[in-house]
Amino acid sequence: MSIAENIHQVQQTIAAACLEAGRTDPVTLVAVTKYHSIAEAQAVVATGMLDLAENRPDGLAQKQAVLTAPELKWHFIGNLQKRKVKQVINQVTYLHSLDRVSLAAEIEKRAHKPIDCFVEVNVSGEAAKSGIELAEVDAFITALADFTKIRVIGLMTMAPIDADDVLLHELFKKLRLQRDAIVQRHLAYAPCRELSMGMSRDYRIAVLEGATFVRVGTALFQ
Ligand SMILES: *Cc1c(COP(=O)(O)O)cnc(C)c1O
Repeated sequence: MSIAENIHQVQQTIAAACLEAGRTDPVTLVAVTKYHSIAEAQAVVATGMLDLAENRPDGLAQKQAVLTAPELKWHFIGNLQKRKVKQVINQVTYLHSLDRVSLAAEIEKRAHKPIDCFVEVNVSGEAAKSGIELAEVDAFITALADFTKIRVIGLMTMAPIDADDVLLHELFKKLRLQRDAIVQRHLAYAPCRELSMGMSRDYRIAVLEGATFVRVGTALFQ
């Protein structure tokens, strides 16, 4: 199928999942172009998609050199090294991978304006995964209080590759409940209304569990 057909298909699946879940709030489809060419990314934008994601500073710079429409919104979804913050942070609308206070401190130093961030959470507790433990989220959010350039708009997670549907529901629900708990704190710097969860394999279940941003790559390009 073409990229346009794939995007249509994914949007249909999202819409059907929203209906099934009785949801009427919006879900933003973020196109993950990290393993794909500039031409393919251009094809995505040509369909009207405005949200694009990259996971490496160089990949981001290469795509942005060509895709320059001001209405595009760039999402950084990979591990961000401190020494790369300067290169990346003023080029993106969203950071999905805030996972340590030292990274927040570097953003505080380098960002020209407040950045919309997702705190990355390792819900499954897999040793190889980045992100902070679910049990540490509350304290981590508290520790961000003094950074004027960090706005915690939500939580993000990646599910294990081998998770079955039952486990996916469970992990995504846990993130949603944690999100709800932070919303209840009514923190000005951490409204935390969003949930960035769901990739090509599991975005349908993520939407059923309340995802407001899904990050989909492979399913758009097959
Ligand atoms: C690569 C990546 C995605 C997209 O994965 P697909 O399986 O290709 O849809 C989403 N989120 C993050 C953080 C990624 O690194």
